[in-house]
Amino acid sequence: MLKADNISYAYDDGTKALKNVNLEVNKGEIVSLLGKNGAGKSTLFLHFNGILKPENGRVLIDGEELKYDKKSLIEFRQKVGIVFQNPDDQLFAPTVEEDVAFGPLNLGLPMEEVQNRVEDALKKVGMEGFEKKAPHHLSGGQKKRVAIAGILAMKPELMVLDEPTSGLDPKGASDILKLLYALNEEGMTIIISTHDVDLVPIYSSRVYVISAGEIIKNGTPKDVFSDVELIRSANLRLPRVAHLFEILEKRDNFDFGGDYPLTISQARRLANEKFNKN
Ligand code: ADP
Repeated sequence: MLKADNISYAYDDGTKALKNVNLEVNKGEIVSLLGKNGAGKSTLFLHFNGILKPENGRVLIDGEELKYDKKSLIEFRQKVGIVFQNPDDQLFAPTVEEDVAFGPLNLGLPMEEVQNRVEDALKKVGMEGFEKKAPHHLSGGQKKRVAIAGILAMKPELMVLDEPTSGLDPKGASDILKLLYALNEEGMTIIISTHDVDLVPIYSSRVYVISAGEIIKNGTPKDVFSDVELIRSANLRLPRVAHLFEILEKRDNFDFGGDYPLTISQARRLANEKFNKN
């Protein structure tokens, strides 16, 4: 559906932020782009909105190469909606409803359709009742929800979210992920950038690991986190659950065959298999 084909990019000061990046998101997936700060995640995502143009390589949507004239960009941005890391970069209208209505109004849709979309989008993100509130009076998690609603109201085929859980408390982060998971269940294709290794295996169908502007691995969470050396070389770590099982095996002589659970539910299943004899 969305494809980065051999993209390289350098900033004006010479920083080579992306090197021959290949990445593909298929319809219905939730893909994570995992990398430490400065790895190149935001730079790649700015290519997925046509804000940055690759020096080499191409961005493709449904097999068609993205062009950078105004009309092509408008069409592309209806298909691919980006939620920026900082909601304050995205929200600017005096009220929540005006903010969510901004995109659909710009599409020139009739007022009734705009109102329906705003209502639907706010309901989906659980922000109905906040229509008249000023975005800058909302909490971080609520702002994030409104920013997501603004993108949903455009009815994109794919959503790109740059660090959607950054700056949120654990409950806020988990609520946003649940929301994204629910949107995905309803058919939305999603790509998320993050450095949060604990969250990645909970929701991702596939993971790309980026380090110093290069994709160094891609696969299922299991494929990716079974390569412990690679994960550590990218200045990341195993999910805490996996790390615990690694310690139990290496220091306490438990035998898991090097195959560590990545999430609490996987750990529960394994513990029940191994230790619950009833
Ligand atoms: P991430 O999103 O993974 O934290 P970024 O894409 O923001 O990483 O940054 C990738 C690299 O590009 C970093 O080395 C960063 O310092 C550099 N960089 C980002 N934005 C700019 C810019 N506007 N000008 C110059 N260098 C930049």
